Amino acid sequence: MEDPFRKPSPQGSVIRIDPCGDLRFKITQKDNEVVFIVCSKTLRRSWKSLEWYHSPQEWTHGAIQMPFHNTDAVAIILRIIHSQFANIPEALDVMDFYDLALLTHKFDLAHLLRPWAKRWFQKMEDMNSFVGERLWIAWELGHCNLFTKLVRQVIFERASPAQPEYTRALMPIGVHDFIDRARRDAISLLLMTPCNFIRHLLTSRRCFRESNNECDRYMTESMVQSLTVMGLYPLPPIHQVKMSVFELYSKLALVEVRGKGYMHTCESIKMVPESAMADLGRLFTIPAVMKHQLNERAEKTGMPTNDF
Ligand SMILES: [Zn+2]
Repeated sequence: MEDPFRKPSPQGSVIRIDPCGDLRFKITQKDNEVVFIVCSKTLRRSWKSLEWYHSPQEWTHGAIQMPFHNTDAVAIILRIIHSQFANIPEALDVMDFYDLALLTHKFDLAHLLRPWAKRWFQKMEDMNSFVGERLWIAWELGHCNLFTKLVRQVIFERASPAQPEYTRALMPIGVHDFIDRARRDAISLLLMTPCNFIRHLLTSRRCFRESNNECDRYMTESMVQSLTVMGLYPLPPIHQVKMSVFELYSKLALVEVRGKGYMHTCESIKMVPESAMADLGRLFTIPAVMKHQLNERAEKTGMPTNDF
């Protein structure tokens, strides 16, 4: 399916990166074909991983070919390694940056983006859309803070099954499982709140203003009624919760627990404290192995390392 976020590349064009270039570097993407004229020595020296993909004969015949990569991303890399810095964009759209980050990941070239990485990130730190793409870019270039922020955002805002916003981009290895696990844990913790509340009301007294436990029965009934209105009674098993963690929290925050009497302290009780989401956010920290990999990437690209 055609991706509406990708710009079409010029078809059949020749782009001269090096005026004295001796190699035709051909990129094919579906029906598109763009030929870059480059210096073979510069290319082999700066883009070492190309050697894995091309035989010595191809290099000596003055033409090498690479399938499927976005030509704008390839052009940026070729201009950097040929010192054509005046032609490097000051800012990048998210999808262009994403394509570039896919390319640098595949060929281990992220270090080449060091002089531009911080500037390119400025535009996308505070945006709300393209969560998956930004998460991949932050991972590939080692932007520890943005990566952590986006992972938490996905944990709390992703429903099940996940919306395309979260699935169309490539996800770093292990991150998908971590997010799934953290989402389940967060849902479990939130569902514990009404469980504990009901258990407490059933096993011990909460209101002592009444001689019997009539007020506690009122509270139990009002809570069950409110949960039923929210579609949360009986409480669902974790794997059946399709809404996002944030949506579940918002519903639970609206659950009313009312006692019987006027002037009782139990007249209206908030079941979920307002700090619950912030508390949950603090619970989920990035696994140590991911922190280590992010810091390694940050050292390559000049992004700040982080002790998390
Ligand atoms: Zn009471």
